[in-house]
Amino acid sequence: MEIKPFSKRIYLASPTMHGEELKYMKEAFDTNWMSTIGENINAVEKLASEYSGKKYAVGLSSCTSALHLCVKLAGERLYGRPAVSHGALEGKRVFCSDMTFAATLNPVSYEGGIPIFIDTEEDSWNMSPEALEKAFSLYPDVKLVVFAELYGFPGRVDEIKDICKRHGALLIEDAAEAHGATYKGSPCGSFGDLSVVSYNGNKIITGSTGGALLSNDKADADKARKWSTQAREPAPWYQHEEIGYNYRMSNVVAGVIRGQYPHLKEHIEQKKAVYERYKAGFKDLPVEMNPILEGACPNYWLSGFTIDERYMCKQDRGDLTVTYEKETGKTCPTEILETLEKLNAEGRPIWKPMHMQPTYRNHGFVSLGEKDVGADIFNRGVCLPSDNKMTEIEQNVIIEAVKNCFR
Ligand SMILES: *Cc1c(COP(=O)(O)O)cnc(C)c1O
Repeated sequence: MEIKPFSKRIYLASPTMHGEELKYMKEAFDTNWMSTIGENINAVEKLASEYSGKKYAVGLSSCTSALHLCVKLAGERLYGRPAVSHGALEGKRVFCSDMTFAATLNPVSYEGGIPIFIDTEEDSWNMSPEALEKAFSLYPDVKLVVFAELYGFPGRVDEIKDICKRHGALLIEDAAEAHGATYKGSPCGSFGDLSVVSYNGNKIITGSTGGALLSNDKADADKARKWSTQAREPAPWYQHEEIGYNYRMSNVVAGVIRGQYPHLKEHIEQKKAVYERYKAGFKDLPVEMNPILEGACPNYWLSGFTIDERYMCKQDRGDLTVTYEKETGKTCPTEILETLEKLNAEGRPIWKPMHMQPTYRNHGFVSLGEKDVGADIFNRGVCLPSDNKMTEIEQNVIIEAVKNCFR
């Protein structure tokens, strides 16, 4: 097959609009609910709570702001309300997923906490429960765990939850990438004491931006809502007893998200088809696709694979640059990403583990034994173009081009 670049770029994951989004946005416009109050927000909160199996949802400007409020809520519950100039986790260690987007755990730092990173397990590419257990023996004072579900493929979150319970720790679940996925019959977003989902532009459904905080506790939801709208007290003037934020969701953005929800299942089906076509296309290559745990129903947000180490050519990654040496029959993520780029298709390395990031390099990192699993998956792994609008023909071209890298 001759391989020519696509005339229209193929994205990793891009927004897919249907029409209802515009109807709800227009409703906001026509009724002049062009602020952070309105029917669309109420509807999104109801939908987010239904789809995640949590009683309460609070619509916010982003998932990062939702995570910030989760961390603050957890910090105050564990350690009491801090002085105005202090974070809710000042000087406290917090166990965090290591191989994830920085937004999962930056909010721990916003609140003065100290992320300690827990290594990844090969079986799910999520936090290793065994490494978490080990971490509690090394740092018995820790009372908070932040766990992210990677690329929409659930990890062993039931075991993580059990370990937290046994050690009297609270669990924050970052289901930003996993909305609509389930594990052992329960939706992602239902597992944490506090959980979040994201409506960022490249997620499975989107409002262009936006996020939701999820809890079964009405007091959490009320507090998050109050903090997100500048923490005003019920007084005839602007009365403040604590620090607030401008984190509330816009009713226009909520219109987009409201129009997306009826299509969540359909997006998952499309992403699943993308994953399965890759899996079939690469069946003779020495690669392993994102692992799926027994009992997990992923939302298949991003498809990716790791290359068998025997088929890895030499690849050298510095902090900002990379080189590799092509060898016959061998390849590396860098060669695959360059090949995709030449095709006008977007790939991405696996999330670079947080313990390898200059921001967090001097923080604790707990792995099992000698092997650094996260570093290894990062070294050998790649995310493939996973857009749900990619056609089968386009995907076949991508599959051929990737296969060529192994020649
Ligand atoms: C996208 C993402 C976030 C942040 O979501 P925003 O809505 O963009 O703030 C947090 N955690 C993970 C794992 C993500 O993928």
